[in-house]
Order: sequence, then structure tokens, then C-alpha cells
Amino acid sequence: MIKKRYVLNFPTQSGDKAFTYHLVKDYDIRINILKAEVYPGKKGSLLLELHGKKENIEKGVEYLQNHGITCESLDKAIHLDAEHCIDCGNCTAVCFAGSLTMDKETWKLDFDKDKCVVCELCIPACPLNLFRIDFR
Ligand code: SF4
Ligand code: SF4
Repeated sequence: MIKKRYVLNFPTQSGDKAFTYHLVKDYDIRINILKAEVYPGKKGSLLLELHGKKENIEKGVEYLQNHGITCESLDKAIHLDAEHCIDCGNCTAVCFAGSLTMDKETWKLDFDKDKCVVCELCIPACPLNLFRIDFR
């Protein structure tokens, strides 16, 4: 069993297809939806974590792609050198995913890796260059 993250972008016409149902039923994949941006009549995107057998995940992703859904694998992660952070908050302004936030009580930076979509916007935003990409 493996766990993989994907960003899915799907066109309007595929929004009504129960593709998550097929991933679960036909490919025995467990799905955790980490982030969803779906607007009626517009394109949508999802950040998913898929948990299952490697070959099943590959087949499931192929199924999605055959239905016009693009699947970008997140095989990289953002690493923060938290030890040297001065909690200036600059990076929180660019993190649309809500992964980087300031704790309202301590005013310390809080990094929730589970919300990170690896957009890399925080890298140039940090004056101390504390972010880097880790390739897995
Ligand atoms: S890579 Fe993007 S989503 Fe992840 S912490 Fe940086 S700004 Fe936030
Ligand atoms: S921009 Fe850099 S120093 Fe400032 S809060 Fe973010 S990680 Fe810390």
C-alpha cells in the first residue's frame, strides 16, 4: 500500500461524473480530499491523497486522465528551516492554500504541511531563504 498526492483539474462537463466513486469501487483506492475548489459552471480542482496498491493507483489515475481530468503528481514537498524563522509573516501573505499561518496567540509561524500544495510561492517570499523543495 502506498500514499500519493495529486492535484486534479477537471473541466465543467466532468464535474457531474462520480469519479471518486469509481476510484473507490473499481480500484480499491481510499481518498482523502485535502482541498477542493469547485464552482458551478466552471472548472474545478482538487487536492487528493490516494491510498492503495501502487498498480491500482496507477490504473485509477489513468481512468481519470481518460475522462479529461489532468492529474499532477506531488512528488515533492516544501521544507521549512523553522529553527531560523523570525516569524515576520511574509510567507503567510502568499500562501493561498492556508498552509502557512500566524498563530493568533503567540504570533509564531504555523506550518501545516498537510495543506501545502507545493505552489512554491513561499520560497521567494522569505527574506531569509528558509524554504526549499525536497524531491522524494
Ligand atoms: S508551497 Fe505554496 S502552499 Fe506550500 S507552504 Fe509554500 S506558499 Fe503555502
Ligand atoms: S517569511 Fe521566512 S522568516 Fe518570515 S515567517 Fe515566513 S519562514 Fe519565517
